Amino acid sequence: MSIKPIPVTQPYLPSLDEFIPYLEQIWDNRWLTNNGPFHQQLEAALCEYLGVDHIALFTNGTIALITALQALRITGEVITTPYSFVATSHSLLWNDLKPVFADIDPHTFNLDPDKIEAAITPQTTAIMPVHCYANPCDVEAIQKIADNYGLRVIYDAAHAFGVNYKGHSLLKHGDLSVLSFHATKVFNTFEGGAIVCPDAKTKQQIDYLKNFGFVDEVTVTAPGINGKMSEINAAFGLLQLKHIDHAIAQREALDKNYREALKGIKGIAIPALSKAASSNYSYFPILIDSDYPLTRDELYQKLKENGILSRRYFYPIISDMPMYRDLASATAANLPHAKVIADKVLCLPIFSELTLEKQKKIIELLRGVR
Ligand SMILES: *Cc1c(COP(=O)(O)O)cnc(C)c1O
Repeated sequence: MSIKPIPVTQPYLPSLDEFIPYLEQIWDNRWLTNNGPFHQQLEAALCEYLGVDHIALFTNGTIALITALQALRITGEVITTPYSFVATSHSLLWNDLKPVFADIDPHTFNLDPDKIEAAITPQTTAIMPVHCYANPCDVEAIQKIADNYGLRVIYDAAHAFGVNYKGHSLLKHGDLSVLSFHATKVFNTFEGGAIVCPDAKTKQQIDYLKNFGFVDEVTVTAPGINGKMSEINAAFGLLQLKHIDHAIAQREALDKNYREALKGIKGIAIPALSKAASSNYSYFPILIDSDYPLTRDELYQKLKENGILSRRYFYPIISDMPMYRDLASATAANLPHAKVIADKVLCLPIFSELTLEKQKKIIELLRGVR
């Protein structure tokens, strides 16, 4: 009999019994999508939970990124990070924009502001940074550059659900912030996403865009898309939100255990959490150096053979993928830190239902006890 492997992440699922009343409500309402009651409630509840003023829900994070770029009418070149999930750069290609890759800071894994500034050309109109692993970007430095050069900032905040930075929501920085509620994220609606907007007017415009550009029954003002979140997804989000603090607290305990148990192992470096921000403990990345007895890929294999699915996340970097690698900014010489980190990084399993016993097994394998 084969034992089910331990995944790198697992969605937090409340009991099915808890979800049934929500479904009954949808059946009673006969309102399945198009800004229904659960959709409206979830937008309000998320504004309150996240500490933001306006939020527009989406069918997924990628369509939200694509729509955010449309909403701000971004053109030409956008400076972005190669060290992310492909959707970040893909959203630029879907808008006929040219991604310009800048290197990351080797400690935060986020875009290095100096490298952003060096990458600006007359065609640059925007910056799309990522709060990698929920670790805040240098938002002040990025805003200063944006102000100096007249650029827009759209944060891919797919990892940054609920993160507070210096006492307020990280999601308030930049012109827009985009969230993902995919099943693998800390807060999920099966599939889903959102754009955090600074004012009601911007939200209204984004709401038109996500509904084909319809303003009323007969008026279409923009070539919009179908980016709407359904009632089932929104209802699940409301239920998920009830449990989110508990789910994050469980992740925090696992994060602490890993840090304590893995510190001092030769060849394993653990990136520090930001001191200025809260975390949602969405990922547990470690870096495997040449001092470790195994290479990163050998360790990945060893864990896999022992029923533990870690992830080389982010590897390969976006700039090495066929649709990007011929860009002038995609060279290894331009992106030395991103290249090195991508070759060393391994994300360990972390999710609220990971038991301490299973975590111990993972730690023992890393220590070489097993
Ligand atoms: C998950 C993710 C996305 C895409 O979100 P979806 O909801 O899956 O479309 C975009 N960017 C980053 C950094 C992500 O991790």
